[in-house]
Amino acid sequence: MDVMEKLQILTASAKYDVACTSSGSNRNNQAGGIGNTVSMGICHSFSADGRCISLLKVLMTNRCVYDCAYCVNRKSNPTRRATFTPEELADLTIQFYRRNYIEGLFLSSGVIRNPDYTTEQMISALELLRNVHQFRGYIHVKAIPGTDDVLLSRLGLLADRMSVNIELPSRESLGLLAPDKSKDSILKPMALIKEKINENSSDIVKYNHAPRFVPAGQSTQMIVGASPDSDYKILTLTEGLYRKYGLKRVFFSAYTPVVEHSLLPSLDTKPPLLREHRLYQADWLLRFYGFQANELLDEAAPNFNPLLDPKCSWALNHREQFPVDINRVPYNTLLRVPGIGVKSAQRIVAARRAGTLDFPALKKLGVVLKRAQFFITCKGKPLEGLKVGEHTLLRSLMSGQELSLIQPQYEQLSLFDDTYLSALPKAETTGLTKGGWPDV
Ligand code: SF4
Repeated sequence: MDVMEKLQILTASAKYDVACTSSGSNRNNQAGGIGNTVSMGICHSFSADGRCISLLKVLMTNRCVYDCAYCVNRKSNPTRRATFTPEELADLTIQFYRRNYIEGLFLSSGVIRNPDYTTEQMISALELLRNVHQFRGYIHVKAIPGTDDVLLSRLGLLADRMSVNIELPSRESLGLLAPDKSKDSILKPMALIKEKINENSSDIVKYNHAPRFVPAGQSTQMIVGASPDSDYKILTLTEGLYRKYGLKRVFFSAYTPVVEHSLLPSLDTKPPLLREHRLYQADWLLRFYGFQANELLDEAAPNFNPLLDPKCSWALNHREQFPVDINRVPYNTLLRVPGIGVKSAQRIVAARRAGTLDFPALKKLGVVLKRAQFFITCKGKPLEGLKVGEHTLLRSLMSGQELSLIQPQYEQLSLFDDTYLSALPKAETTGLTKGGWPDV
């Protein structure tokens, strides 16, 4: 089989790995080297299904001795198989880089023979790239659960970012769908990577030229929709992973049925892309807005509302905390107002040192008043003329895309008709219609 044929098979097999990632590390080229890495991200492009394919995203091999039910590469799935030699992979990456097709490499792999042997093959390819071709560009490599610590440590010195896929949100789902893996075999390498990163930070302080261990940190990927686990389960696990293992990112991957299996959604099930989107929004709230998972969801309401983003849902369920006066409340409270993002909150805090803000000033600072108006006052007063009914409020909080979800019913209705609300999910599951929104 020639290299191009292998490339076709191994890039197609890799497309279910999520790699929408910025490089997060800085490294300049040196005389005789090729490529460099910049922290604000590498190249960005998107495939037809909207996924980021900015790197040469490829598998070392799609042969696998494991049998994860959700995976197209599982050993029991009859599919064309291919394996790169380390030389082939290194040559391809360099050729693609020279032609300006890519700015980095995302390397994952099926398990050939065993995790150690597979990792040795990946190390050989990366050593060729780094030491023979002097490639200084970005490399994201997937660690295989069960690999020896010494090999993982060597791999981490060659890559910018490493990730160990957590795959499924619960031990039970993992046991059912990926019986060859265990939660411990996934968490152990995560802990090792964290420890090595910490050790490396002290080494760098002492020795300026100490080699960098995964300078862009570690991340993981979780499949959404292959198992019955709720958004609450996924989000609490995500929060725990950030806290315990210092992950840079948790990526969510809407499950795309590729194989028929009695434990999985049927082949005609659509990937839950909106659910994936809501989880990314919530992940953003955890990382940048000071929210905690149990503020957004709980056992009683364990899944996100498809019609409203998680921050709006939270605000509607915590009406007693609003309205807030924009000139007085602290930064952390500003972040909780729908329509105010991190940048606009920072601008508000800076601008109000110079004087009192009014509604036109907020608009200039980037606040989305269409949403924020219901939750704020300026100098103790609401926006002039603002009189809010439940329908107007909901319509203002939904984006065009979210409104289109209820479009079939909505088109026939008046916004001031009670039946409009019947097009929305039930109050007990969404909180949308709890009580009445008081006029502010
Ligand atoms: S280990 Fe599991 S998820 Fe990874 S390639 Fe093999 S079958 Fe697929």
